[in-house]
Amino acid sequence: MYDVIIIGAGVSGSAVARELSRYKVNACVLEKEEDVCCGTSKANSAIIHAGYDAAEGSLMAKLNVEGNQIMPELSKELDIPFEQCGSLVVCLDEASLPNLQALYDRGVKNGVEDLEIITDKARIREMEPNLTDEVVAVLSAPTAGIVCPFHLNIALAENAYTNGIDFKFDTEVESIEPIEGGWKLETSQGAYETRYVVNAAGVYADRFHNMVSESKIHITPRRGDYFLLDKNAGKHVNRTIFALPSKYGKGVLVTPTVHGNLIIGPTAVDIEDKEGTATTREGLDELSKASLNVKNLPMRQVITSFAGLRAHEDHHEFIIRELEDAPGFVDCAGIESPGLTSSPAIGKMVAEILREKLDLDVNPDFNGTRKGNIDLDTLSKEEKAALIEKEPAYGNIICRCEMVTEGELLDAIHRPLGARTLDGIKRRTRAGAGRCQAGFCTPKTMEILHRELGIPMTEITKSGGDSQLLVGYNKDRI
Ligand SMILES: Cc1cc2nc3c(=O)[nH]c(=O)nc-3n(C[C@H](O)[C@H](O)[C@H](O)COP(=O)(O)OP(=O)(O)OC[C@H]3O[C@@H](n4cnc5c(N)ncnc54)[C@H](O)[C@@H]3O)c2cc1C
Repeated sequence: MYDVIIIGAGVSGSAVARELSRYKVNACVLEKEEDVCCGTSKANSAIIHAGYDAAEGSLMAKLNVEGNQIMPELSKELDIPFEQCGSLVVCLDEASLPNLQALYDRGVKNGVEDLEIITDKARIREMEPNLTDEVVAVLSAPTAGIVCPFHLNIALAENAYTNGIDFKFDTEVESIEPIEGGWKLETSQGAYETRYVVNAAGVYADRFHNMVSESKIHITPRRGDYFLLDKNAGKHVNRTIFALPSKYGKGVLVTPTVHGNLIIGPTAVDIEDKEGTATTREGLDELSKASLNVKNLPMRQVITSFAGLRAHEDHHEFIIRELEDAPGFVDCAGIESPGLTSSPAIGKMVAEILREKLDLDVNPDFNGTRKGNIDLDTLSKEEKAALIEKEPAYGNIICRCEMVTEGELLDAIHRPLGARTLDGIKRRTRAGAGRCQAGFCTPKTMEILHRELGIPMTEITKSGGDSQLLVGYNKDRI
């Protein structure tokens, strides 16, 4: 019997796992997909929000601000990209100034530091030359930032794993029932027993909550569509640019990414399908609203579109607590935006509940640091040459768009909780994430996966399940 089973290896479940690994505990993460970071955590705006959006006094506001404050240090510990680039909320008419002021006031009450309303147009222009000429004022939040959501999620999971937390993939939890001293979970890979369950199942969290509790919750998948633009558009803005919610709706943001791209989005459409991540024509058309705030957007540089699903709970609040009518079952539900920002604080909060309940002792061997992938862009010419001499695979370019080498792929495959699929490689190394969207590197990446994992080419998938790329060999059919 495990002490704790966490359902879901998204950023919430992985953050809980890492914080829990600070203690001596027999714990496991069960994930229905083939890898970590396969749910909402892989498709979002990647913004570390400052914290002025959530209602004053809410758990969302508290964990947002805490998570924002933890992120600079955490990114160093986990060796992941993070830039505190700041954000601006753009106000386009005098009549909306009170709304901008309300955001400022709420931010101050939530504990956000260094907020400022700027009305000096010359200063605004200097900060963001591509902001619309219609701008009247901006709310500046220098503590906002951007991360790579894949690296954050993967690094949290990897660090939890190396500190002793078990991860089981392709393991879908199907039902939960109380047993003496805990819970029995039926999964696609057999039954598991545990004293405590942490429900971090994203858009599916209501399903598990409602299996064990009489007090029901309802999560609506709220789809957000995006455009991703090529790297030569990445400097169009220097910060995250938000629209001030107005008569035109909630607006669409424009932000650089830590990898040098630009993203535009998201929409907000409530749907029923918890797997409904296909983009729509109407959704993508709506993204043209971004030009209300940012001029000359280079839309010809769009290289792909994607959508993510917010786990919107009816009361728009994080639900993080042990259930009164289901002792031993801890919810981590309704984790919509700013869930990515809040994840380190969510991890701490849930681990503290478990530490207290299970009376856990400190793990004396806990090591909170990890070394991330080698980023060749950060090396000098001489350092690169020395690396290639020692390990020639770092001289073999596999992805030409992102200049990713075979050495980086080997690292991604062989490090703890390593990549098993094309998407797993993409999230860890960016091979396939560039302009040609994997058109060039797919066969080479497949050959490396085949060679390193010892699996037939016909079993290599894009993203697990039955997403194989090859169905057989031509000659077999002759
Ligand atoms: C459009 C959009 C924009 C966003 N922008 C931001 C932003 O800029 N900043 C920010 O802070 N937040 C943002 N968010 C929110 C943030 O992405 C989420 O709050 C966060 O990723 C949620 O993580 P999670 O681990 O709770 O859920 P998920 O990442 O969805 O993880 C849940 C996991 O549970 C697994 N699972 C589900 N059912 C089962 C089962 N039966 N058995 C086993 N495993 C199961 C899933 O496969 C999944 O891996 C945004 C979200 C969206 C959709």
